[in-house]
Formats: sequence, C-alpha cells, structure tokens
Amino acid sequence: MVDGELYRGRLGIAAEFGHMVVEPGGRRCGCGERGCWERYASGTALVREAQELASVSPAIAGRLLELAGGQPEAITGLAVTEAAQDGDEAALEAFRVVGTWLGHGMASHRACLREGRAERPARRAGSGGRDRRCRRPRAAPVTGR
Ligand SMILES: [Zn+2]
Repeated sequence: MVDGELYRGRLGIAAEFGHMVVEPGGRRCGCGERGCWERYASGTALVREAQELASVSPAIAGRLLELAGGQPEAITGLAVTEAAQDGDEAALEAFRVVGTWLGHGMASHRACLREGRAERPARRAGSGGRDRRCRRPRAAPVTGR
C-alpha cells in the first residue's frame, strides 16, 4: 500500500517477494532469474529438498520413502509432512532447511518494511509538507476501474 492505495508497480507484480534473490547464482526460477526466494522457501522447495535427501541418504528417510512407495521422485508435500510428524530424519531436515530459508527471507522483508517507514516522513517546516526523497512511485496505483 502506498498512501492508502494498492501499489502494483510498472509490471503489475510489485511486492512479488518470492522473486527476491536470496542466493545469487542459485537455483533457476521460472521468472528467468536465479536464486529467487521461492526456489528455497516454498512447498515445492520442501518437496525437492526431501527428494534430494531421500535420494542421497535413504537410510534416514525410511518413513518418507515408505510413504512414497520407495521412489524419491514420488515424494509429495503431504508425505513430507506426515513423515516429519512420524519423526523421519530426512523429512525433519527438509523442514529445517526450508525453514531457515524462510527465516532469511522474512528478515529481509523486515528490513524492507522498516525502510518503508520513510514513505511517511515527518513533515519538515518549509518543505511544503513533502520530503523529496519520498515521492510517490511513478506507476499509477490500482483503483479498480
Ligand atoms: Zn523468480
């Protein structure tokens, strides 16, 4: 929200934080970039992490592989959740890894939002009430019309 209105940005996808790069040169994303947050902190990332763990360390993924019929590529998000609830080490590790990335991204969001306070600076005497550093974005906000 900018001045009480939804801000969509030039391409209409402002605040698409899933495409914030958290790992430069990291995993390729559908948006064309590499290292986007959603490649590390999402349901898809959780499944991929569990599949990799089950493939390279099947000894710690017994319950996970049991739920997937013994095939790492058949592991689903539901199976990861169920296996984690049953104490499967690989499933728990997948949650730890994705949770860590989630935390890193949220910390960055926090920093962005803290910076966002500059959008509403205290009015300075003689400035006409508007700080020049905090002009309204160029793109038109969504008005619903
Ligand atoms: Zn992306």
